[in-house]
Amino acid sequence: MSELLHNRNRPNKPDNLRDLILPLNIFGDDILRKKARPLQGIDIGIEKLVSSMFETLYHTSGIGLAAPQVGHSIQLVVVDISRSRRGDYACEKPIVAINPHILSANGDDVTEENCLSIPGIRKNIVRPAAITLQYRNEHFEKKTSEFSGLLARVLQHEIDHLHGTLFIDRLTPLDREMIQSELDTIAAGIVPAEIAHLFRNSSSEP
Ligand SMILES: [Zn+2]
Repeated sequence: MSELLHNRNRPNKPDNLRDLILPLNIFGDDILRKKARPLQGIDIGIEKLVSSMFETLYHTSGIGLAAPQVGHSIQLVVVDISRSRRGDYACEKPIVAINPHILSANGDDVTEENCLSIPGIRKNIVRPAAITLQYRNEHFEKKTSEFSGLLARVLQHEIDHLHGTLFIDRLTPLDREMIQSELDTIAAGIVPAEIAHLFRNSSSEP
């Protein structure tokens, strides 16, 4: 999920951090529809990928990113809502969730969602308000935690990506129909010129 699809101009960003920014897969790319495989452990490659995913998240003003969105069909998501403007979340720590599995879910909540891989589309989506999540953290330690509010929302959105599910799949048929032509344009890889550079397979609007 994202806040806004443009850079908030982090000051004094060194070039080596910029090198970590990964190209995003866009709606229509096959990898976004695949089931991601679980990880058996972590190594230096996964650690580097986690760092790159956070840098990509910050570069795009995102609040959550799943590995398939950056070309890796593995069960890994990163979330950082600390700079979200949807509320005061400054104290919330970044989360790395490997092989996440939702053990239970409670309540109903309607919140507007969007997705870094489906630029320009924002829609209200119904999801459980709170979840109990089993996952492994960045040290591959097994964790069971409860999440509610925006964290529960973002985690569910990102975990959907690991199953090849996108938030637009959760729209009513009528709501989906209303955005079908926009989706067709995105699936053709056509996005506004100012964000075209973020994507692996895209061209800018004429
Ligand atoms: Zn998404």
